[in-house]
Amino acid sequence: MHQMTLAEIARGLADKKFSSEELTKVLLARITQLDPQLNSFISLTEELALEQAKAADARRANGESGALLGAPIAHKDLFCTQGIRTSCGSKMLDNFKAPYDATVVAKLAAAGAVTLGKTNMDEFAMGSANESSWYGAVKNPWNLEHVPGGSSGGSAAAVAARLLPAATATDTGGSIRQPAAFTNLTGLKPTYGRVSRWGMIAYASSLDQGGPLARTAEDCAILLQGMAGFDQNDSTSIDEPVPDYSASLNTSMQGLRIGVPKEYFSAGLDPRIAELIQNSIKELQKLGAVIKEISLPNMQHAIPAYYVIAPAEASSNLSRFDGVRFGHRCENPENLIDLYKRSRGEGFGPEVQRRIMVGAYALSAGYYDAYYLKAQKIRRLVKNDFMAAFNEVDIILGPTTPNPAWKLGAKNSDPVAAYLEDVYTITANLAGLPGLSMPAGFVDGLPVGVQLLAPYFQEGRLLNVAHQYQLNTDWHTRTPTGF
Ligand code: GLN
Repeated sequence: MHQMTLAEIARGLADKKFSSEELTKVLLARITQLDPQLNSFISLTEELALEQAKAADARRANGESGALLGAPIAHKDLFCTQGIRTSCGSKMLDNFKAPYDATVVAKLAAAGAVTLGKTNMDEFAMGSANESSWYGAVKNPWNLEHVPGGSSGGSAAAVAARLLPAATATDTGGSIRQPAAFTNLTGLKPTYGRVSRWGMIAYASSLDQGGPLARTAEDCAILLQGMAGFDQNDSTSIDEPVPDYSASLNTSMQGLRIGVPKEYFSAGLDPRIAELIQNSIKELQKLGAVIKEISLPNMQHAIPAYYVIAPAEASSNLSRFDGVRFGHRCENPENLIDLYKRSRGEGFGPEVQRRIMVGAYALSAGYYDAYYLKAQKIRRLVKNDFMAAFNEVDIILGPTTPNPAWKLGAKNSDPVAAYLEDVYTITANLAGLPGLSMPAGFVDGLPVGVQLLAPYFQEGRLLNVAHQYQLNTDWHTRTPTGF
């Protein structure tokens, strides 16, 4: 039962082959049995799950239908869940029970999805390995000595290990697409503004975007449908109609122009990944796509710009955690300054503290123009490169990451080494564009992802290309041994 995709679950529930309650019990038992090896969950919500499953079964018995009605999922632990711990992977929020549901959580619950729990993540979504979590590292089900990617590493490991069919995640600089690549999943970062950020604990507000992690493009379409849409509570949410993503899945790829940026195949890319990307290009050509070499000349500046903008916004967003209103408070503060200092010093881990310091520095008087303003100018150049490219092509294709998942601890002493691994993903966040990663093969038994980028609001195009590819390849069906 645990092998089923969301689409198969929806069919099974509609045909009354099993109930949501039965399926939920099977998956909860599987999580209890197998998750100790992975550490992909921070909280299990068994009672809520069984309640929601029974309610979904009752709604189906009353004649209601819907692809998510009774479907088990989990939420990355930065989506606020009313009355349930929402930790953001941090000691700071270990004692925080959200007083309300994030829009994404509320929408999915209304569609009948069943919440099995809250998944592990890098602290405040800062990281690419899920090693900065206060709740401990998450292991990659493909090789337990390797990282699952981050910051949505818990969602990715859980879905890859078939503990559940799909989960929510967020992507500020790659945190949906990179863990998807590292664990053989399909993950979609939507256009900025497509999915409400209300109740999604902020890391870098101009870059953060929620999206689905699942095994197939078909399932990403189903989950995205439940997440997307205008929300008046989020001033950056966009009031555009949400298309029927599942209906966009069977469009012909004949004549589709795919751009392959020459900058993507530089020295930093593992040649074995380069070969798998070339194979995926050939596969898409067979389906009718036309390949064109393009250029994104400002790509080299994207990492430094991102690692100024993201910490700058983070330092501002995280100032609310002061020991007074939210989360951790130190014992016996001597005065207000001591309260701030010790509460924040104790509550935040080293990576979060590093970014708060970098961000506060970049925003400080005298340095603002040199760093923050400069970074924002680079951001515009990155966007302009994409706009020029999309005049010539419909999709941009390349690797999701330069290397496969590294060993646990391998980059702990050198944060910049980890930042450099974000080279292919962060440009989409800087420009606000939608991006998808899908399975493209294996290197030394570790999964490799191919990334597709599209113009604003063309999530359907990304999902269609990925679906056509998945109808003709079987990488996405491979299961890690032991799960
Ligand atoms: N690795 C990037 C960072 O650490 C991206 C993280 C994310 O997308 N949340 O900032």
